Amino acid sequence: MQGAVLYDPRDVRFEERPDPKIIEPTDAIIRLSATCVCGSDLWPYRGIEPIAQPTPMGHEYCGIVEEVGSEVKNIEPGQFVVGSFFASDNTCAICRAGYQSRCVDARLMGAEGAQAPRLRVPLADGTLVATPEVPSDDLIPSLLAASDVLGTGWFGADAAAAGPGKTVAVVGDGAVGLLGVLSAKQMGAERIIAMSRHEDRQKLALQFGATDIVTERGDEGVAKIKDMTDGLGAHSVIEAVGTQESMMQAIRSTRPGGHVGYVGVAHGVELPGDELFFAEVHLHGGPAPVRRYLPELVDLIWDRKIDPGKVFDLELPLEEVAEGYRAMDERRAIKTLLRL
Ligand SMILES: [Zn+2]
Repeated sequence: MQGAVLYDPRDVRFEERPDPKIIEPTDAIIRLSATCVCGSDLWPYRGIEPIAQPTPMGHEYCGIVEEVGSEVKNIEPGQFVVGSFFASDNTCAICRAGYQSRCVDARLMGAEGAQAPRLRVPLADGTLVATPEVPSDDLIPSLLAASDVLGTGWFGADAAAAGPGKTVAVVGDGAVGLLGVLSAKQMGAERIIAMSRHEDRQKLALQFGATDIVTERGDEGVAKIKDMTDGLGAHSVIEAVGTQESMMQAIRSTRPGGHVGYVGVAHGVELPGDELFFAEVHLHGGPAPVRRYLPELVDLIWDRKIDPGKVFDLELPLEEVAEGYRAMDERRAIKTLLRL
């Protein structure tokens, strides 16, 4: 089969790769219906994360089960499934507590390379969630979004304790930030402030339920959030970037006693202890335990109560994956869907 391989910064190739096979008896092989490019794929693409050797890319996936290993009990060939970007057993103490992304046996799906027609999924019983039946084509983008960006935005909103009566601010207008807006809305937040200076992203934020847009960032952004909240700061802030500036913007925009849900992959973030001490905010985040939320998210999508697939504003055939990366790198696209 042919799939995406990253060789060097800005050098993604669509080339021959070995067909995945069952290696462990708990594996499944799925035929992907669609896959996509993640904002986090841009870190190695831009050379900010080193690339030691040619690396298969992609960790977001949904599709039809083709084959299962001898110990797989709950998943069977022919089912349509969605899974998280971390495979997990869903049985250990950490999984049972709802932190499947830190399962004692967690496997990063990026290692399998999901930007390809077929994919090996380890720990299939613990990782995959089947839909009631094979979905119609228009549901595929939303189900694919559940695999990472929706699950991550949802965790950000949950970690930030978004809910009725709350003012939620969202730092970051990438796909995760935008789906953080959708998640906060679904959780019943009263006011949702999207921080964005790009018109196309502002529009989508408003469609997803944002009530206000703030274009300022850094200290000016913080001042604006304070202005809008009687000088107190937001109850809940979702941090969906992962830089020093965005993290401090999130903490400083949160009122004492409030919650920061940080889901942007941290790069070079260092927190000043004295400021943290007096900020008196709850900090919770990390790689989202998407598997915890998947059954609920799949239901919401299946019943057409949410439409997270709208974050895909560019759709290309898989063989044009390199253009998908370029478009996101140059911010011509929010998120690229790759069709098979
Ligand atoms: Zn586990």
